[in-house]
Amino acid sequence: MGTFTMTIDGRGVGSARHLDVIDPATEQVCGQAPDCSPEQLDEALEAAATAFRGWSALDGEYRAKSLVAAADTLERETEELAALLTAEQGKPLGQARTEIASAVRWLRYFAGFRPGREVVQDDEVASVEVVRRPLGVVGAITPWNFPISLAFWKIAPALAAGNAVVVKPSPYTPLTTLRVGELLRGVLPDGVLSVVSGGDALGARLTRHPVPRKISFTGSTATGRKVFAAAADDLKRVTLELGGNDPAIVLDDADVAAIAPRLFLTSFANSGQVCVAVKRVYAPRRLYAELVDALVEQASAVRMGDGRDPGNLLGPVNNRPQLDRVSDLVADAVSRGAVAAAGGSRLDRDGYFYAPTVLAGAEDGMAVVDEEQFGPALPVVAYDDVDEVLERANASHFGLAGSVWGTDVERAARIAGRLEVGTSWVNAHMALAPHIPFAGARWSGIGTENGRWGFEEFTQLKVEYVAGGRRRGTAEISNQSGPRAG
Ligand code: NAD
Repeated sequence: MGTFTMTIDGRGVGSARHLDVIDPATEQVCGQAPDCSPEQLDEALEAAATAFRGWSALDGEYRAKSLVAAADTLERETEELAALLTAEQGKPLGQARTEIASAVRWLRYFAGFRPGREVVQDDEVASVEVVRRPLGVVGAITPWNFPISLAFWKIAPALAAGNAVVVKPSPYTPLTTLRVGELLRGVLPDGVLSVVSGGDALGARLTRHPVPRKISFTGSTATGRKVFAAAADDLKRVTLELGGNDPAIVLDDADVAAIAPRLFLTSFANSGQVCVAVKRVYAPRRLYAELVDALVEQASAVRMGDGRDPGNLLGPVNNRPQLDRVSDLVADAVSRGAVAAAGGSRLDRDGYFYAPTVLAGAEDGMAVVDEEQFGPALPVVAYDDVDEVLERANASHFGLAGSVWGTDVERAARIAGRLEVGTSWVNAHMALAPHIPFAGARWSGIGTENGRWGFEEFTQLKVEYVAGGRRRGTAEISNQSGPRAG
């Protein structure tokens, strides 16, 4: 698929060294990405700082038009981008197209946003307005599971608010993001959106660099901690979207046959490599065997294979270390008494394929239940009592999302309301949209993406206070005093 260039100040930039990118379905190199040097990163950030001045001063209407033009460009190039995404990430082509479509959707949605201005006082004492200003340069760091949609969760609102963005994709999946940078040259003003590629050290350098005023990071909790610590020195703003270990609680009135396909898909989509996938299912003892059987039926029927074959619904695990981690977690659970009722091993073929695995007899305390597996292996844990299961579901360092499944929707909603997470769903999981805020509790993150809440995180709140009110002159206010400072 060739060599790709970084986008710095609107220009294509190569580098002395390259990173090989592996196609996880074939284990062959599918492309090369530049390894950005420290000097090139400096250049990208300086260019972004310069571009920010012009971009932030533009009329919001002009910025909106640019974002819509960017959306049109990506939409036009969907086929090329989706093929590249499948090659480097592994997800089936149809889902890769959906991911490109989501970037388009996010751009169009946030194109309508402008930093707001709100009057909070307007009387003879003062006119006080709260305005939102862009922050400056934003560093966006993304993981390998949804490199494009997660990049645009950041790029779209950040640009609409008037910031400039430098995005650094994961070294496992940099190619589609680099190609997006190439396609958007000339569509967005130079320097407004730069794309740099490299290893983890590049992310660390971006985070420590004095130019960005904010780091918007999506990735693992372990890396999120490092980003948070590195940003602290310079008091950079951060948004951290981190790991999850989402519980799905099936209630005793659930219609197992009806929910099993949805429960399966919301756990195994993208071969389980979704931050908000169902990662542990709690089933009432009465329905336990029936639910395990129904999930096993789904796992046995689903087709896993090369994402370029349209018959496949599931692709490989993205990379070797993650494949090893999933294998180890399943082996550990089995050694502690769980049973792989479906799957339980790699597929006997090239590529990082791990068979869709349903772990019956799983218990809290097993690593596959307590930690984030991030792969196609789902533990099913039995419970006896709703209060007890809520306590167990909440007894996690993570708090990204969770769901409750049952026929009595009101009861299910009451129980879901007690989940200590950023999002709870009833009879659904993984339902995300640009207008719905997304945030993690506890170790799952800091800050919010999406909706007006996410947009505002790319702005600085500023108070504009005019003594005596805007409609009156200084002579009239000389004898008045404003509210006392606290
Ligand atoms: P990761 O933390 O290993 O890497 C994420 C990004 O951070 C990559 O671009 C990487 O190069 C970069 N990076 C690594 N070290 C860095 C450092 N010291 N400073 C700055 N950047 C650094 O995560 P991953 O393995 O690519 O992704 C999987 C993880 O992401 C899972 O834990 C998953 O739950 C999480 N995730 C969370 C969300 C969410 O919205 N909450 C969404 C998707 C994925």
